[in-house]
Amino acid sequence: MESNMRVGMQPVTGQESYWGDVKLTPKEIGLINASPTLQSQLRHYGADVSSGTTKPMALGTGRGTYFEYKGTNKRIVIGKGNQTLREAGAMVGTLSHEMGHYENQTNDKTFRSRYEINPRDPNAYNVAALTGVHQEGEAGANNWQVQQEIEKNTATPNAPGTRIYLAGTNRLQQTLDEQHAADRQDGKTDAVHRNHLTIAGMSDFANNSPSTAPGKSYYQSHGDSTGVPAPVPGRPKDVTFQGDDNGDINQMTESWESGESATQTFSEGKIQSSEILNDTGKVTSASVYKHNQDGSYSVDVRNGDGHETEHAEFKADKSGIVRNYANDGSAQAVSFNTDSLATQIMDYNVRGQRINANYLDPDTGHYTVQDKTTPDGGHTVINCDTEGRVRSQSQYDRNGKITLSADFSETGDNTFAVHYKEDGSRLVVKFNADGSQTNHIIDRNGNRGRDYTAPTPSSARPWNATASA
Ligand SMILES: [Zn+2]
Repeated sequence: MESNMRVGMQPVTGQESYWGDVKLTPKEIGLINASPTLQSQLRHYGADVSSGTTKPMALGTGRGTYFEYKGTNKRIVIGKGNQTLREAGAMVGTLSHEMGHYENQTNDKTFRSRYEINPRDPNAYNVAALTGVHQEGEAGANNWQVQQEIEKNTATPNAPGTRIYLAGTNRLQQTLDEQHAADRQDGKTDAVHRNHLTIAGMSDFANNSPSTAPGKSYYQSHGDSTGVPAPVPGRPKDVTFQGDDNGDINQMTESWESGESATQTFSEGKIQSSEILNDTGKVTSASVYKHNQDGSYSVDVRNGDGHETEHAEFKADKSGIVRNYANDGSAQAVSFNTDSLATQIMDYNVRGQRINANYLDPDTGHYTVQDKTTPDGGHTVINCDTEGRVRSQSQYDRNGKITLSADFSETGDNTFAVHYKEDGSRLVVKFNADGSQTNHIIDRNGNRGRDYTAPTPSSARPWNATASA
């Protein structure tokens, strides 16, 4: 039964400019005005439109209703389906979900920054999923609260009130109703109750599929947004969250289709540990975190046998170094800057000795210098230009004495070489455009011999440019 009861001081008319091209039906207006929370949030939205920080709402072309947040284009887009295909309760339901997102922008920012970890952290996927799903939990709690107000305020002595749509899976209604009953029983404050609703809803939303990414769960959609692979391949069957009265999430658990499961723990927003178990319940990966006062932190990852597989150090400015260990104990360490772009890649042998040092231009990803150990115990140093082309190369023996150096053209041809001899003399070779070479010798005392020209069989060239970027 429809009710025209209006609650609140300033009823919504549907004529407000913040609605943009969205046309409300009288039924929808009636429902909106039965919720003081939604009315107040719409006034807030309207005030933001007046001050220019938010755009008026718009009628979308697709079915889905969503909160669009692209640069300065911040607005709620009402899905067409909600206007024409569904009833009033659906439109007001999805609207109150999106208003939940709108109203929680500051909370979300705070939450994200509390939980944020380095993009190169082995748990970056999970934490992105956590903070993304948390936003949905808040929106769901808002949707539910508006729903409860409308249901109560539209009830008459003869008929129950209208129950608007609660966006989420079918079980969300029951989950939030039960949470409400439990919190009322326990005498929880409104703020605590709200936190509980958010957390309870998160487990539902994590496994639900967003209208903007069909076929993916919210967990996957937010995790995938990081660009890093999921901690376990395949699809998670179920993701759950546990939190407390303050709204902190203290644990998240993922069960995967493969039978594997993973758990991350948090304390006051900071990740503490992460564990992956195989389908028989054996730990295959365990991460332990250490957080420092200055905002830097480290993580140690070990496999099921207790061998370290990764050690990472992350600074507060988001730069850091990640060291991965192979089974045989050899390692690769990647250093990266505050934009998470690699600056150095170092390879270590099983004895922990550095065998390769690669320096990169983080902005282009090109190598600038590569220093590689050679099988004889010496090393080769390669210098590249800004395009990543090898332009010079030097060979050193195991005692660090230079034995050969060469220059290369932009197209990789040898242009110049110096062979350093045991007796201290040098053979200097200039490669000519016609394929010949002009040589001279500099003796151990630095005396330059005269030029002589020789044809250049290709085998005489010390190296071909070994561009490896
Ligand atoms: Zn949402």
